[in-house]
Amino acid sequence: MKNPYLQLFNSQKENQFNIGNSNYKQRIKKLKTLKVALEKTYKQDIREALYADFKKPYIETDLTELYLVIKEIKVAISNLKSWMRNKHVGTPLALLGTTSWIKYEPKGVCLIISPWNYPVNLTFCPLVSAIAAGNTVILKPSEMTPNTSRVMAKIVKDVFNENEIALVEGDVEVSKHLLKLPFNHIFFTGSPAVGKIIMEAASKHLASVTLELGGKSPTVVDETANVQTAVKSIVWGKYLNTGQTCIAPDYVLVHESKKEAFIEAFKMTMDNYYSKKPEKSKSFGRVVNEKHFKRLTSYIEAAKEDKAIIHKGGNYNANDNYIEPTLISKIPERNPLLNEEIFGPILPIKTYKNLNEVVSYINSKARPLALYMYSKSKKNTNYVIKNTRSGGTCINSTEIHFTNHELPFGGINNSGIGKSHSYFGFKAFSNERAVLKSYWSAPLKVLFPPYTNFKQKVVDFTIKWL
Ligand code: NAD
Repeated sequence: MKNPYLQLFNSQKENQFNIGNSNYKQRIKKLKTLKVALEKTYKQDIREALYADFKKPYIETDLTELYLVIKEIKVAISNLKSWMRNKHVGTPLALLGTTSWIKYEPKGVCLIISPWNYPVNLTFCPLVSAIAAGNTVILKPSEMTPNTSRVMAKIVKDVFNENEIALVEGDVEVSKHLLKLPFNHIFFTGSPAVGKIIMEAASKHLASVTLELGGKSPTVVDETANVQTAVKSIVWGKYLNTGQTCIAPDYVLVHESKKEAFIEAFKMTMDNYYSKKPEKSKSFGRVVNEKHFKRLTSYIEAAKEDKAIIHKGGNYNANDNYIEPTLISKIPERNPLLNEEIFGPILPIKTYKNLNEVVSYINSKARPLALYMYSKSKKNTNYVIKNTRSGGTCINSTEIHFTNHELPFGGINNSGIGKSHSYFGFKAFSNERAVLKSYWSAPLKVLFPPYTNFKQKVVDFTIKWL
């Protein structure tokens, strides 16, 4: 059977050099048109679509979807001229008579596959980088947020020609067809399990990949931490987007001397943020669908069976996939809450006595996308950072490293391969072409055959001194 997306792919392939040879002014013009669509024309449609998909509060949509994409566009507009400029590099003495530079050229035809949890942000931020780098792109957002995907499809159709940027709606079957095509680069955001499928498919054509994946991000609260401040930040970071955030604190390791204070502060903060009836709160959303609702409530039931302590929450309502913000401790190690990425509004806590335990616990699991450390001790903080690995880290805060466009964003191994955002995103979608220009006067030609004793001496000298 013919691949249903072959014609679209070929039209972008044919067009890739037209797009790729655009200058920075032409690319900026496109980014500005996209910005207007997000900021003005489709802003309300996006808010309503995300509300329809999982009751995402408008203010969270504005902050975590629209603002972040608009910021990504603004940063690209301000910097594109310098990002695109050839970067001249030094010349070793042995290459006297030559000059070299790095040329940033587009990879070509790219595929961006995105997840449902921040559908606008995670579809359009990589798109901004791809446009900045001069690529043509096919986008495949998640089928789990269909209302948002529909609005994004409308935006893409409105702003771009199909032979430059196209958005294809649909499920796994659509992804599978697309993955058979020989894209030059695949940018995937989603789960580690699907990340492996993407990498395998990319290997068939040796397409380069950026994999933005997930996993269990630990949060450490040590004996020196200001518990009140730490808790205010952790509760926000954990329950934002109903806990469905790739860099949300997945579990907390709290020093045993701070456990009681931590739990009390946590309960109070949850009430302050979401009231005593979070189901009615306008600041708290819903789990995206029945499948994830069932997965998450099975974790709560397994914790109950294991006689874990539910300090707060634990209730749910299947009518609209509501799960109360929940805090649980005394969970046996085999429980899924301590093994699967939670990706929902349930937070397990464990206590520890010394930092060796913390480090070996974190290192016993796959390398996380983020690691958070709440501490007033530089020594403790350095110890944890030096003895673990993670894609990113916040000290005395959570998640906001994502929003600093000066930082690369991405994971390590199980939590991802490659980096995104601003210049790092531009680089992910660019081929850094190494160019060397040799002048006729370059002395290198003295080494051309026939090889003589004199030439051997020049080589000996080069090895020793140059
Ligand atoms: P997912 O991996 O199930 O799906 C992501 C995308 O891949 C969707 O568009 C889906 O249609 C497609 N897909 C699913 N199965 C596929 C298959 N077998 N073959 C080809 N394509 C397939 O992820 P999700 O449930 O949408 O999102 C949650 C996951 O994403 C979590 O693990 C989370 O941590 C991670 N995530 C990571 C980041 C990041 O920036 N690192 C951001 C958000 C989410």
